[in-house]
Amino acid sequence: MTDRYVVFGNPVAHSLSPDLHNYFAKNYAQDLIYDRVLIPEGCFESIAKEQFNSGLKGCNITVPCKLDAYKFADTLSPYAKACGAVNTLKLQSDGQIFGDNTDGRGLCDDFDRIGIDLFDKRILIIGAGGAARGIILPIYERHPKSITVVNRNKDRALELKKIFDYLEVKEFSELTAEYDLIINATSASLNGLLPPLPDEVLKSSLAVYDLMYKKDGQTVFTLKAQSLGVKHCFDGLGMLLGQAALSFDLWRGIKPDLQKTYLYFAKRLGRNA
Ligand code: NDP
Repeated sequence: MTDRYVVFGNPVAHSLSPDLHNYFAKNYAQDLIYDRVLIPEGCFESIAKEQFNSGLKGCNITVPCKLDAYKFADTLSPYAKACGAVNTLKLQSDGQIFGDNTDGRGLCDDFDRIGIDLFDKRILIIGAGGAARGIILPIYERHPKSITVVNRNKDRALELKKIFDYLEVKEFSELTAEYDLIINATSASLNGLLPPLPDEVLKSSLAVYDLMYKKDGQTVFTLKAQSLGVKHCFDGLGMLLGQAALSFDLWRGIKPDLQKTYLYFAKRLGRNA
């Protein structure tokens, strides 16, 4: 019988998840269908219950339902617990609903794909929202030398330090040119804006990674870094594909090849991969 999966969110029409999972299903000969389901405000629990009762095997969850999904799950992965948010639910054979968050590990899988080794490196994360929170534990598990968080609203960064006590929290004005990798986990690029990071800090970094992705791969942040001479600049497409690959693995026991997936979607978006 054909298994059914969905992505829940609001809005959801823009979600690439059906394209990604249909691509995985075709490539790995999996008999499944994958739809989008719009969740009106306050309706996550009732719709998710109804969907799982009618045979849903699993789902992805996008904005603004990740916290609802966290509450809905019967059991949680350590990554979901660390994030306080769930982006993947799976119906287990015992009838329990398992919640995971694959965003941070998806990012780390993309680091592997592009050849960024975090071991013993100094990492700077800009931003302290949901995305920043989701990437900290998987990055820490790669044994970097240090992880520093800087955020416009410092209190939010200090909240993260309460969860991840190994973080260093700084103000933008305190930053010095010492980072191997700078990750932009703010939503500033979505609005064509730059976080107030001093040029000398950005320019000394060996690589930068903007979690936001753009069709052409060039965000305002990666363009700025390139203009300052940073050679290795990446947007978040690979992370998006990586987190989807991990959801697929959770559901189907098959982990799609990330580089092959990246090449396919980069071509579809018209990028020179
Ligand atoms: P949140 O709304 O939770 O957090 C937004 C963060 O951005 C806050 O830290 C906020 O700072 C900061 N910020 C916003 N505008 C500015 C600005 N102009 N200057 C400096 N800081 C700013 O968003 P998320 O954490 O959910 O998402 C962040 C980014 O990550 C988005 O671009 C999203 O697209 C991307 N993302 C990518 C994924 C992928 O798979 N590639 C997965 C998930 C997210 P403050 O607290 O001071 O307001």
